Amino acid sequence: MPPVPPLPHILEPGDALDRWLAAEGQPTWRAKGIRQWLFRRRAAAFEGMTDLPKGLRERLETSFAFWTTTIVRHQRADDGTEKLLLQLADGERIECVLLRDHAEGGPRRTVCISSQVGCAMGCVFCASGLDGVVRNLTTGEILEQILRLAHMLPEEERVSHIVVMGMGEPLANLDRLLPALRVAQDPDGFGISQRRITISTVGLPKAIDRLTAENPGYHLAVSLHAADDSLRTQIVPVNKSIGLADVMAAADRYWEASGRRLTFEYVLLGGLNDSPAHARSLVRLLGDRAALVNVIPYNTVAGLSYREPSSAAQATFLELLRKAGVNVQVRRRKGSRIDAACGQLRRLALGDRPATTSDQASQPSTATIASTIPRMPTSQTIQ
Ligand code: SF4
Repeated sequence: MPPVPPLPHILEPGDALDRWLAAEGQPTWRAKGIRQWLFRRRAAAFEGMTDLPKGLRERLETSFAFWTTTIVRHQRADDGTEKLLLQLADGERIECVLLRDHAEGGPRRTVCISSQVGCAMGCVFCASGLDGVVRNLTTGEILEQILRLAHMLPEEERVSHIVVMGMGEPLANLDRLLPALRVAQDPDGFGISQRRITISTVGLPKAIDRLTAENPGYHLAVSLHAADDSLRTQIVPVNKSIGLADVMAAADRYWEASGRRLTFEYVLLGGLNDSPAHARSLVRLLGDRAALVNVIPYNTVAGLSYREPSSAAQATFLELLRKAGVNVQVRRRKGSRIDAACGQLRRLALGDRPATTSDQASQPSTATIASTIPRMPTSQTIQ
């Protein structure tokens, strides 16, 4: 027998739902109601969309996939941070994180999501890039991470911020990411302001320029990790074919078009990029840009030989930046008691069988493991 094709994912944007409803003889306004159930009212299944006729709910169930992921692991930290390891329909695995913060103006509920399975950028300190990139996530898979995390919030709370800072290089998957972010912004979607969405990148100039041309309202965070090409290529191998000058020029064009302050990320690796000379080199590279620099002290990742910077090295590095007038902050560690560096949970769990075979109805496994999350965003870093 030929294989049965998978059902279309209800979260995949497009007009599939509208066309299906028309074929079912349903009024066009039904689509809006179903989307509200998905994103605003957080139905966990078609069955829960209680103001739809029962027969329609049953036909939706057999015509569309609601959840395409399975929760393999669910970790919680004492500070409220929660991390999910999700298994995709093809067996691949990704990670996403919910962060709870209190900021001026009220509580923040930030989701950190992945854009690819694995990553091709090969940053030497990152577990996500150890095995290269497997594939791009679909728009529906990107949205499903937000939905999964939103379902972990109590009814009265909403996702307020998105950071695309999980596994993968977001700008290498813009074709699928941008439609997902449009749904995230849509009042009939998650209704999250564009200004509360951050895209993190190693700096792919052509893709930054595309973002500049299409819609520069997102907050852009460019990961530097070194201020000269030789060292940066050692830490971020993809830099070899790009070069810092082009990265900075593209970032400047984005800033000019968007008016949004640029953020640069700098993971401080003990004995590698944390000396006073490295700090002075960074000051020179930044020049008079009105940028924010997030310094992220590295945390050891199992299987990698890089080490944490000493307290003295951190203090000197920060002092030199501040004395030079650079707007700098140390990224506070959230979820410091849950595992682990971006992509590390996926690697640790390789070979595991999923804890569940269906999804929302089942209970995820919960674990608490000591480690830290170097790429984890915090309220300090989200504009
Ligand atoms: S730090 Fe980001 S860009 Fe670098 S390998 Fe990891 S996921 Fe990819």
